[in-house]
Amino acid sequence: MKRDANYTGNKGGEATKAERLAHCERVAWTCPYCGTDLRSVRVAIDHVKPQYAGGKKGPNNQVACCLSCNSSKQAKSLQAFAEAKGDAEIVKRVKRATARKLDVARAKSLLSK
Ligand SMILES: [Zn+2]
Repeated sequence: MKRDANYTGNKGGEATKAERLAHCERVAWTCPYCGTDLRSVRVAIDHVKPQYAGGKKGPNNQVACCLSCNSSKQAKSLQAFAEAKGDAEIVKRVKRATARKLDVARAKSLLSK
């Protein structure tokens, strides 16, 4: 398994390797904000609703994205970031992704191969 080579160790190491892999699988290895192939860039786990704004920890409020989008999104809300990027589809893509189950068990089995 080389696919996890681009992970950037989430700040503070909150997410395990399996969780990060599951996050990437959940967005089909495509940044929901800009469409970049996450296999070719550094990956971050973004809090869709920023934590300072009351966003919760946990997969329903987290989505894998490229480090570049994560850096430029910063503390913006999802709507504000979509507007800043001029792409209303971002909101739909992120909501679709976070509605899916985060399959950590499957990711663990992939990692053990
Ligand atoms: Zn991106």
